[in-house]
Amino acid sequence: HGDSDDYDSETKSVCPFCGVGCQISVKVKDGRVTHVEGINGPANEGRLCVKGRFGFDYIHHPHRLTKPLIRRDDAPEKGMNADPGNPWTHFREATWDEALDRAAHGLADLRSYHGGASVAGFGSAKCTNEEAYLFQKFIRQGFGHNNVDHCTRLCHASSVAALMENVGSGAVTATFNEIENADVAIVIGANPTENHPVAATYFKQFAKRGGQLIVMDPRAQALKRHASHMLQFRPGTDVALLNALMNVIVEEKLYDRAYIEQFTEGFFEFRDHIRAFTPERMADLCGIDPDTIRDAARTFATADRGMIFWGMGVSQHIHGTDNARCLIALALLTGNVGRSGTGLHPLRGQNNVQGASDSGLIPQFMPDYQSVTDPEVRSLFRHIWRGTEISATPGLTVVEVMDRVYRGEIKGMYILGENPAMSDPDVAHARKALAALDHLVVQDIFLTETAMFADVILPAAALPEKSGSVTNTNRAVQVVRKAVDAPGEAREDWAILVDMARRIGLDWDYDDPREIFNEMKMSMRSLHNITWNRLMEEGGVIYPSTGPDDPGQAVVFGDGFPRRAGRARFAPARVTPPAEAPDARFPMILTTGRQLEHWHTGSMTRRATVLDAVEPEATCALHPATLRDLGVEPGGMVTLETRRGTVTVKARADRAVAPDMVFLPFAYVEAAANLMTNSALDPYGKIPEFKFSAVRVTRAHTQ
Ligand code: SF4
Repeated sequence: HGDSDDYDSETKSVCPFCGVGCQISVKVKDGRVTHVEGINGPANEGRLCVKGRFGFDYIHHPHRLTKPLIRRDDAPEKGMNADPGNPWTHFREATWDEALDRAAHGLADLRSYHGGASVAGFGSAKCTNEEAYLFQKFIRQGFGHNNVDHCTRLCHASSVAALMENVGSGAVTATFNEIENADVAIVIGANPTENHPVAATYFKQFAKRGGQLIVMDPRAQALKRHASHMLQFRPGTDVALLNALMNVIVEEKLYDRAYIEQFTEGFFEFRDHIRAFTPERMADLCGIDPDTIRDAARTFATADRGMIFWGMGVSQHIHGTDNARCLIALALLTGNVGRSGTGLHPLRGQNNVQGASDSGLIPQFMPDYQSVTDPEVRSLFRHIWRGTEISATPGLTVVEVMDRVYRGEIKGMYILGENPAMSDPDVAHARKALAALDHLVVQDIFLTETAMFADVILPAAALPEKSGSVTNTNRAVQVVRKAVDAPGEAREDWAILVDMARRIGLDWDYDDPREIFNEMKMSMRSLHNITWNRLMEEGGVIYPSTGPDDPGQAVVFGDGFPRRAGRARFAPARVTPPAEAPDARFPMILTTGRQLEHWHTGSMTRRATVLDAVEPEATCALHPATLRDLGVEPGGMVTLETRRGTVTVKARADRAVAPDMVFLPFAYVEAAANLMTNSALDPYGKIPEFKFSAVRVTRAHTQ
């Protein structure tokens, strides 16, 4: 905390890291952020985690890109071989005019010679809603197809697929704060104490006041200490466990008959399907004894009000959509949607992954999840976008785009604030694809691993240096306000996009984010009753908002669902094994994720002084018994090897992981977890199976 003498200005904004969307006050002196405090936003009520409080000084790091860069004619071959602190061996400075001309004309030339489909775009869940909207419009309007995606594909695409299919809406049905009104809550495949830390404080308070907290996870994560039930099931057996829970509820007739009759369809087929999944049959597979399954099922089904929270542990599997279908069915079976203290809540990861998805940064959907295959939707956008024909073909997803690049079908890319050279599965493949591009434009705040492959790099403003709106996991559209100037010549992403669009022949004339927001409102029903003035005055409004004075509906679907006849649907799910089962050669299971101090590919948090000091190097987590068997002391080096790659890394003893598992965070380029992950996709959400790869762990020769 600082006295007001310690700073020249304070600006209310939103934390740039996770989807909790904590509201902050940014204190600035002499053009630099001195400290950040939590303020009374609806999601955080003054609280912040270590990232929000101490993770801000990345914006002042000397590695910030301050001028446009163009690849030198005599640069070394494209690869991850540039130095972010000294890029001059690979790149030279350019004026904005030269860089924009080079960037835009390169994409337009590919369009002329090879057709629009030779260019694809990855946008960002770190930018504002207005910037996400403009980016998808840039690709759709400029290149005549829908090959535009972002990191939701690597995150909750399977959850959204299941929710859209069975509930009719991809967003949460209740805010996480509604747990205050619940009697029971399931947290599955999520580690909120590390990944959604402020949300986790509400979960802990819920448990302290007597709420029944059922934690299900292959890792015995910290929330276990607060749980009434901890089901540490075998990785990849989510469907078996959830179907067994629902079998108990069906067989013991604990379901909510009145709710099912009034608000659902498909129950009888579902009931017949679920009968085969008895706890006795599923116990060996999921590693949970039948009595524990029964107890958890009865606890959830007999409580009056229950909520279900989930994260990447559910979604990042080839059966991620089936996992989410099970969670939806469990909520419907027990009548736990639509009332205070009930609901389905996929905990969103990035600060604006909800908003970027809402804004249409998805290959099959226009803004507000309106399908590109619907002629009325295309007609609406033809009108708003002054005659633009929208392609009726759903576009390619992140991993599919990289495959087409690899095959030479996509020759140019525009990547805004994403880092596929670190975040894609089987990342060696993605890096080869990036190196093969004829023309790559990267817009970012640092020389990321992806930017090292670029032909042109456009320096962008970080979130505390820009204005606009972002949408958190609770569907709250919140205001981001500029607290400091961007360094050097770096500019806000929306303004760069406008200049790029004009250079590829688009007739864009936006002068500020407000104009973009007003255009978004023309096609997005979710923004009804939410005006720019309201956002400025109130700081944020949850959608849907029923009127100009309604701060937004924390709980939705109390009177039915946005589906046929207002009914949600039971979708039966079968047990599918992981794409790559452990075998004699690769006998253990590799799972990846985040850790409290670091954000995703580490480009921001590894440049934040405090966070980097707390977790300066990569470590994998292994059970103490496994380390003993390997003959490795805690802190010793181990080698992890999968069919795709090898990483040597320091090992940490951690009883939270099972003896046949290893956990590795994916933030560290020097021990890049994604060199080893599997790019096998869920067929519906097209999400890769980051959470399960067969791996061999050995004592490293470099002990
Ligand atoms: Fe930021 Fe998320 Fe931490 Fe809140 S919980 S301070 S939004 S990283």
